Amino acid sequence: MKEKKTFYITTPIYYPSGSPHIGHAYTTVAADTMTRYKKMRGYDARFLTGTDEHGQKIQRKAASEGKTPIEYIDPIVDVFKNLWKTLMIDYSDFIRTTEPRHIKGVQQIFQTIYEKGDIYKSEYEGWYCTPCETFFTERQLEEGGLCPDCHRPVEKMKEESYFFRMSKYADQWLKFVEENPDFIQPESRRNEMINFVKQGLEDLCVSRTSFDWGIPITIAPKHVIYVWFDALSNYITALGYGSDNDELMQKYWPADIHLVGKDIIRFHTIIWPIMLMAAGLPLPKKVIGHGWILVGDGKMSKSMGNVIDPVVLVDKYGVDSIRYFLLRELPYGLDANYSEEALVNRINIDLANDYGNLLSRTTAMLQKFQGGIVKAPVTTDDIDDALLALMEETPAAVEACFDDMKFSDGLAALWKLVAAANKYIDEAAPWALNKAGNFDRLSTVMYNLCEVIRQVTILLAPVMPTIPAKVWQQLGISEMAEYHTWESLKEYTFPVDVQIARGEPLFPRIDLASLIIEEKPVVEEVKEPEYEPIKEEISIDDFAKVDLRTATVLACEKVPKSSKLLKFRLKVGAEERTVVSGVAKHYEPEQLVGKNMVLIANLKPVTIFGIESQGMLLYAELDGKLEAIEAPTVKGGATVK
Ligand SMILES: [Zn+2]
Repeated sequence: MKEKKTFYITTPIYYPSGSPHIGHAYTTVAADTMTRYKKMRGYDARFLTGTDEHGQKIQRKAASEGKTPIEYIDPIVDVFKNLWKTLMIDYSDFIRTTEPRHIKGVQQIFQTIYEKGDIYKSEYEGWYCTPCETFFTERQLEEGGLCPDCHRPVEKMKEESYFFRMSKYADQWLKFVEENPDFIQPESRRNEMINFVKQGLEDLCVSRTSFDWGIPITIAPKHVIYVWFDALSNYITALGYGSDNDELMQKYWPADIHLVGKDIIRFHTIIWPIMLMAAGLPLPKKVIGHGWILVGDGKMSKSMGNVIDPVVLVDKYGVDSIRYFLLRELPYGLDANYSEEALVNRINIDLANDYGNLLSRTTAMLQKFQGGIVKAPVTTDDIDDALLALMEETPAAVEACFDDMKFSDGLAALWKLVAAANKYIDEAAPWALNKAGNFDRLSTVMYNLCEVIRQVTILLAPVMPTIPAKVWQQLGISEMAEYHTWESLKEYTFPVDVQIARGEPLFPRIDLASLIIEEKPVVEEVKEPEYEPIKEEISIDDFAKVDLRTATVLACEKVPKSSKLLKFRLKVGAEERTVVSGVAKHYEPEQLVGKNMVLIANLKPVTIFGIESQGMLLYAELDGKLEAIEAPTVKGGATVK
């Protein structure tokens, strides 16, 4: 027997620091759909997901709840697994980075690269972002000295560390990316990454001694391996890398697709490939960075409420509808705005009106005019030819999109056929044919409709796990598996003389107005904000070193060419200071003039955008919103203690 072609797709491993949201749902549904699609097309497809469980942030969060890290993580991992069950995610493997198989594999990768001489010991001083678990050099920081990934303040840290000689691989990386134009998708991200590497790569600090919730380095157990080095390795440790059994590695590596959110594409397209180069392993074939589903941009109707918990959504609207919505709504490589109203509109228009109605109209007419029996086609007509020609070209159009994970485009192509079939009913007017006794023509039209529904349903099957069985039931072909296959799309082949069985509508219409009433008692879901964990304890002497002063804002203006920075002229007692602060997204300069704010007055000056910033103004931050700390009636220069 011929060996099946293999296909290996991964999602990122998710960070169990809170409940999964609609973004996790999107990524995982997309990877699942791709896997189902590949299986239908005859591939031996493998799909990996999992959780990323190490790092200082987890350790701190667990400690703040009086738990061990594992006690803290386990229930969250269960929440993820339950969501995947609810969304009918059929993964082949779920890896947790705290599993022995992973730990052993990561230590092996580290050791291999170390022995090759590409990991060395040195001292590290840099800026660390705890939420991102990432070190940055001064140069990488965002204007205002903030983390370039999450825009939060960073901390200066110094420690003895192991370094990965990434710098050595910049040219090899550039050559690889040039020779493999599809490696980074979409194109815009590819250009970003090339520009990043062209500026030169710095060696990466890959060990930590400041905390211990991680994988120890075999030869230096006081050091734990950098969480990204640890996490990225999951794609091969899950295939048994570092174990005695390399069967899965041989079969599935390199991965065909790493699907990731655009925020972590840099780790997946630069660090990870270079780790693999250094370890002497082949590189993944493609990394796709998808856009985000944006929730809560003032455009949404407040009265509508906005359920965004995927479990609640599935409960309310059904798994097939939610999966369809996610894949249809997010255009390839771009962001999409989420609202429950948009979801309900998709369900009502695409699913209830177009697809669902096509089936119910067809089965109703078959029942009424032909006693529920599908008869062989006998005549032809121009309108038949047009519909059948479109049907014939649709699978290739859908496949071309699905192959590249362009699900939104693929579904749009499929819905052209659904729309054409509905129009065909109106034009062919089976009720008139029946009335006129034109039964040859009638049976042809009904046959063509059944065949279109059959083909549409097969093409939808990777997206919708439960709908096809319901459609086969209604069309009377449940037991005829050969009519459910992707292979059968090549033929115009609905079986004749089958007895259909009308059923419930596939997608009952949802009354938009009912949403408003239903949501009212809850008003707006009160969501616990994301609080930062409390930092390590310090002494009163540490705090006393910080000189906090009130500062009166004399003038405030935007820093030219910067979207984030404001330049302040401050009066602090007898002196005047210039300070640059990254709050242009939160305040208009005029709003701040005259206010008495709070300043760290003895912070070493830094130059930002060519302006010497003499101190740092303080703000309260919650959920990404900043608000100035004020002493409304105290003039500049007073001490704050
Ligand atoms: Zn960050």
